Amino acid sequence: MPKLFIPGPTDVNPEVLEAQAHPMIGHRSKECVDLIGRIHPKLQQVFSTQARVFISTSSGTGLQEAAMRNCVSEHVLVAVCGAFGERWFQVAVDNGLTADRLDVEWGKPITPEQVEAELKTGEYDTLAIVHNETSTGVQNPVAEIARTARQINPDIVILVDAVSSAGGVQIKTDDWDLDVVLTSSQKCFALPPGLSFAAVSERALKRAEQVEHRGWYFDFLRLQRYHERSMTPATPAISLLFALDTQLDRMLAEGLSNRYRRHQALAEYTRAWGAENFTLFAQEGFRSNTVTTITNIHAIDVPAMNRYLTAKGMQLANGYGPLKDKTFRIGHMGETSMEELKHLTQHIESFMQGQDN
Ligand SMILES: *Cc1c(COP(=O)(O)O)cnc(C)c1O
Repeated sequence: MPKLFIPGPTDVNPEVLEAQAHPMIGHRSKECVDLIGRIHPKLQQVFSTQARVFISTSSGTGLQEAAMRNCVSEHVLVAVCGAFGERWFQVAVDNGLTADRLDVEWGKPITPEQVEAELKTGEYDTLAIVHNETSTGVQNPVAEIARTARQINPDIVILVDAVSSAGGVQIKTDDWDLDVVLTSSQKCFALPPGLSFAAVSERALKRAEQVEHRGWYFDFLRLQRYHERSMTPATPAISLLFALDTQLDRMLAEGLSNRYRRHQALAEYTRAWGAENFTLFAQEGFRSNTVTTITNIHAIDVPAMNRYLTAKGMQLANGYGPLKDKTFRIGHMGETSMEELKHLTQHIESFMQGQDN
């Protein structure tokens, strides 16, 4: 199988893959309660929170939907600077919510000033923002934005999609006073897809109490009732829970600060290489530590490059949506090592030399 340099799913360590082969257990058994009980404090460490972290058997988009359904009382502002912000806005609209979007040109970050101007209208009870826009390779200054938003409206509920950053970049859920921080298993956590996690504040739960028609599967209040007994309302993906338990041990054994430093070093290397050989799509100062979007100034045939790379045992990602072929993306998240990344860039260079001949 090719080594994956796509921004999710990412490669899964063999020990973690094997953990999934654990014999099945009942989801109401003591063993499952113990398993979730073991997992939870480790998840809290990754999210830097004392609050509950819900485990959902769904991909991250499910929790994007959950956050909207549980937390928006009247009017949500969705900050959009790429494809995943667009999706989240659409999720709100498709759930019948009143939503406005704050649009920023792709490649640029959302700024605290832009959010401030919108929130000063007094229109919004909820703010939704993507931390790391995987389509453009932009990391938004969520800490600063949250601080600004909280100054304007102390009761605002702040929803953060950290799907492609949590576990690879430090997110201080409690210190930054974020209300919902959600992520998927298959990105920086380097697990197979199928689970997602959300740190949920007391403020968010209080809001949910006032919101009608939260649905069933993703109802935060129901999730909380079961969470108190280390259970989930419906049958969870038990095999993935075994994998999660193992992978959280591996992440903590590496050390979270070491893990964040490794992602930073991978990003710095990729950015330097990308700037030397191409140009970088995302605005300087706001470039992601987990995925680099490179502007295809040499008009490389990206699918052909990927076929060449696949034959060498590796794969990267084309640009997302409208950025397809105009950009390509190198994911450097999860298990990726510097050595593997250098191997990739060497092969991209040899492909390019072959092209010129
Ligand atoms: C991948 C991704 C999603 C979608 O996650 P799924 O787990 O595929 O539902 C949402 N937001 C961001 C920022 C992503 O990178």
